[in-house]
Amino acid sequence: MNKVEHIGIAVGNIKTAGYIYEKLLNTTVYKTERVEQEGVETAFLQTGPNKIELLQALHDDSPIAKFITKKGEGIHHIAFEVDDIIAEMERLQQEGFVLLSDKPKPGADNKLVCFVHPKSANGVLIELCQSI
Ligand code: ZN
Repeated sequence: MNKVEHIGIAVGNIKTAGYIYEKLLNTTVYKTERVEQEGVETAFLQTGPNKIELLQALHDDSPIAKFITKKGEGIHHIAFEVDDIIAEMERLQQEGFVLLSDKPKPGADNKLVCFVHPKSANGVLIELCQSI
């Protein structure tokens, strides 16, 4: 894995959270994107080399809605950039990690993504992402 690509934060209201993070980081949301398949609305901010992804649920069945019900707002996942997501998924499976999908899925911000189950990684949801 190359580097942390972004940190995902689950929020109740993406507009309000966007304003807060714009003030916090002294920058602006540069992109918002809806990922219907995942049931999320996303907003991205960049500060230096670091990227923050805000995630709001589109409906009650969204994984983000379930996360917020269970744990409240907060850090939802850490995403790592990979060059070859298929190879990395195979490697992690061989190492015994549980992946949340068999194949990479289209994610926000022109990425192919796959998640590693938090129970495999000490309670942290890990996202692999490859630029497309
Ligand atoms: Zn993400």
